[in-house]
Amino acid sequence: MTEYAKPVPVPDEETAPFWEAARRHELAFQRCDHCGTYAHPPVSFCRGCHNVAEPSFHFAAVNPRGKILNWTVMRDAMVRGFTDDVPWVHALVSFDDQPSLTFTATLVDGVGDRLKLGAPVEMVFKDVSLGVTLPVFKLAQGSPHGSG
Ligand SMILES: [Zn+2]
Repeated sequence: MTEYAKPVPVPDEETAPFWEAARRHELAFQRCDHCGTYAHPPVSFCRGCHNVAEPSFHFAAVNPRGKILNWTVMRDAMVRGFTDDVPWVHALVSFDDQPSLTFTATLVDGVGDRLKLGAPVEMVFKDVSLGVTLPVFKLAQGSPHGSG
């Protein structure tokens, strides 16, 4: 068995449901039981309804399609295990159905002509090690209609 040489996430009590969903290849974010507002990263009280008396949340699925808001091209590995990957792209994405939610992850397509602000992407899941699945972005097929 090949050992995975990169750092992997260490879920805590608040983030475990996110990583459990990722293992099922599903995107799920914390959602307020009172008003339905999503949050990422998880919060201890809702920024939508500010219910501090009885905060209550569950993790709910979110459509994994979104758009690139910004990106960084990593040209220096800096962290052990990434040397063979440079240059790679780390993208900031907002989700189509929840535009206030943003997430950063590797864009697996790397640097290329299709890497543009607003380019459509979708989150896909990469099983990297026993019990560890990482969310990454992939450019979506086709072109968006309109100038949106
Ligand atoms: Zn709320």
